[in-house]
Amino acid sequence: MYDDNCIFCKIIKGEIPSNKIYEDDDFCVILDIAPATKGHAVLLPKHHAADVYSLPDEYLEKVLKVARKCADAMVKTLDCDGVNILQNNGEAAGQTVFHYHTHIIPRYKGDGANIGWKPMTPDDNEGLAKKIKENM
Ligand code: 5GP
Ligand code: ZN
Repeated sequence: MYDDNCIFCKIIKGEIPSNKIYEDDDFCVILDIAPATKGHAVLLPKHHAADVYSLPDEYLEKVLKVARKCADAMVKTLDCDGVNILQNNGEAAGQTVFHYHTHIIPRYKGDGANIGWKPMTPDDNEGLAKKIKENM
C-alpha cells in the first residue's frame, strides 16, 4: 500500500510535514511546496501507485470528484479566475514524483504560470486515430 522510499507516502503517513487542505479515507490533498500559483495543491491517493496506469480503479473513479471539491473551495477562498486540473505520467510528461497525483492549480488573470503547450500542425490525425483506436 505504501512505499517507504516515497516522499508522498511519507507525507500521507505524517512522517514529513505538509499543509493539508482535505483528507478522507482514500485521499489527502496538500498545498504544493513549489506552487505554480497561489493555492496550487496536489491530490494524493492513500495508495502507492507510480502513475495513472497503475492506480487501481477504485481510486481513479473518485479522483475527479475530490479534485472538483478542492477547486470549488479554491474558487470560494482565493477569488481565482480559473482552475487547471491536470496530471503528469512519466518523466517526458514532466512527472518528478512517482506516486500518482493530480495537480489542482488556481489561475488568476495574467498570472503568467507556465502551463500549456505550443500548438503544432497535426501530422495525419486520421491515420493516428485509427492506430490508437486499435489499441483501445
Ligand atoms: P510532478 O512534477 O511529478 O507532476 O509534480 C510533483 C509536485 O510535487 C511538484 O509540483 C512539486 O513541487 C511537489 N512536491 C515535491 N516534493 C514535495 C514535498 O515534499 N511537499 C509538497 N507539499 N510538495 C512537493
Ligand atoms: Zn508513494
